[in-house]
Amino acid sequence: MKLILLGAPGAGKGTQATKLSQKLSIPHISTGDIFRNNIKNSTELGKKAKEYIDKGMLVPDELTISIVKDRLMQDDCKNGFILDGFPRTIPQAEYLEKALNEMGTDIDHVVNVSVADEEIIKRMSGRRVCTNCGATFHTVFNPTKKDGICDNCNASVIQRDDDKEETVISRLKTYHEQTEPLIGFYSKRGKLLTVIGREEIEETSKAVIKVLGV
Ligand code: ADP
Ligand code: ADP
Ligand code: ZN
Repeated sequence: MKLILLGAPGAGKGTQATKLSQKLSIPHISTGDIFRNNIKNSTELGKKAKEYIDKGMLVPDELTISIVKDRLMQDDCKNGFILDGFPRTIPQAEYLEKALNEMGTDIDHVVNVSVADEEIIKRMSGRRVCTNCGATFHTVFNPTKKDGICDNCNASVIQRDDDKEETVISRLKTYHEQTEPLIGFYSKRGKLLTVIGREEIEETSKAVIKVLGV
């Protein structure tokens, strides 16, 4: 199955994508994770991306599209994939549609995780991520068993730089301006499924599984 998870920053895309990826045995592709790995390893791509990410802006389409292109060509994507955080602009969506059509395929479904802005702010400000394995937790909604320590790998968990309050506001604005129009784009194509993401993580998972019929 070829899926896109759409939604505001902090809506719970990554949390749901991780679960679905295990359930469906298809790769979870997060452009945010790819950028963060590049930043950690101080690559050229990482240096360029960081300038935008720190300001709560989107990384330019050209750069983002080229990393997704490389990733989708890898063997493990043959039987499907879950895109988390891509596309985020209309040109990215148009690129993806064209690239998949050229390969004789298309996206099956787009799941829009819809969460109100007030809730988004609570989710992003409490988000903690593992410095080693990238697992995501929340200080209140999904706390680690031991304070500050990842449940999976025992490394330390931290707040992402771009989850600080000032950046969260600009990321939400960027979302409304540039990413929200994708709801109309995919709805016109008959691909949109909406899940109201205000419930707890487990309840939201059930709702995602239900709309997908998996
Ligand atoms: P979140 O999980 O909060 O939605 P991500 O981890 O997906 O955040 O992305 C972090 C940052 O990486 C974004 O704020 C943006 O700067 C950059 N980014 C990620 N995906 C894209 C994309 N498809 N296009 C442009 N920039 C992106
Ligand atoms: P996204 O990938 O859309 O940016 P994440 O999956 O990283 O979002 O989730 C953002 C934060 O909110 C994380 O700290 C996560 O643990 C928490 N979270 C995710 N889904 C829910 C939910 N349904 N209810 C409460 N908190 C959630
Ligand atoms: Zn970890």
